Amino acid sequence: MTAAAPEVKKLYISYNNIHKLCQETAEKLKAESNKPDIIIAIGGGGFIPARILRSFIREQGEKNIPIQAIGLSLYESMGNNSTIDTIGKEVVRTQWLDFGAIDKHFDTLIGKKILIVDEVDDTRTTLYYALTELKKDVRNQAIKLGRSDEKTIFSVFVLHNKDKPKKEDLPKELMDSGRYLAARTVPDIWIAYPWDASDIDYHTEMAKTQGNI
Ligand code: 5GP
Repeated sequence: MTAAAPEVKKLYISYNNIHKLCQETAEKLKAESNKPDIIIAIGGGGFIPARILRSFIREQGEKNIPIQAIGLSLYESMGNNSTIDTIGKEVVRTQWLDFGAIDKHFDTLIGKKILIVDEVDDTRTTLYYALTELKKDVRNQAIKLGRSDEKTIFSVFVLHNKDKPKKEDLPKELMDSGRYLAARTVPDIWIAYPWDASDIDYHTEMAKTQGNI
């Protein structure tokens, strides 16, 4: 990807580019023996990258890695006392894991390598929420089943990380140990993904012009 020129208002990303970023990340995960046991896609932006990534992670003769979906949306919130100071972004869960189904088909998430996938890390609010809540759920389940000694390892993959001050921090240990994977770090401008394009041909041309093909 070329760095965005100052006059560039939006970063256009093509489907091909997304495919290649997922392929590149999968190769890295494989080379570092960091292949996940399960992928958790944050909807809707994480769905397509998660699905592409899965194909490239799979080695010949291996079973497909399961993909589970969670739905998270960011809304303006006024806080409890609605002064202007308390306006912020609140994460709302629209879909969560079905632990019953996971336990039945996958022997729980406890002790597994779990990769959380989204398309973009903007303020980091969504990723922070997803990671914190998933960790909490797995910890509670492990306590219940007397399996607290098993280490569950979370990693994060995004196509793009925006280079900007974040509202939340992910654990230092995750950031420092190569378990935060951003295929590209980009300037803080709007990223136009192909699935939102009303004219995909124009979109792809723009992506080409910017070198995101
Ligand atoms: P967060 O601020 O929590 O890191 O990002 C929340 C969500 O906002 C992302 O998952 C994504 O859906 C959306 N978002 C943030 N920045 C962009 C952007 O530049 N382009 C698009 N298409 N979505 C964005």
